Amino acid sequence: MQKIEHIGIAVNTLEEGEAMYESLLGVKPYKREEVSAEKVTTSFFRQGPNKIELLAPIGEDGPISKFLAKNGPGIHHIAYAVTDIVAEMSRLSGEGFRLLNDKPKRGADNKYVCFLHPKSAGGVLIELCQEIPE
Ligand code: ZN
Repeated sequence: MQKIEHIGIAVNTLEEGEAMYESLLGVKPYKREEVSAEKVTTSFFRQGPNKIELLAPIGEDGPISKFLAKNGPGIHHIAYAVTDIVAEMSRLSGEGFRLLNDKPKRGADNKYVCFLHPKSAGGVLIELCQEIPE
């Protein structure tokens, strides 16, 4: 693990979430990206070394939609940057963490990602992400 790469926050709509984060941070999002396989649309804010990812649902039956129905808007996951996601997945699996996917998936913002089940990680959904070389 290198550092916290971003914090993922579930919002009802990107418009609503972006308006609030623009007021809060005083900057505009630098990127919007849809990850249709996950039924989510995302918006990224950068502030200094830190990044916030807003996640809004597409449709009614994706993971963000379910999260919002259960919890309402709020912190959804914490993402850690890793240099070798496959090695890190194998290490964490060996440590007893439950991986939500057995192979890295392509996520937003040019990353390979893998999630760890919150039940195995102290109640926090953890994302591993590795930058995809251009
Ligand atoms: Zn994320």
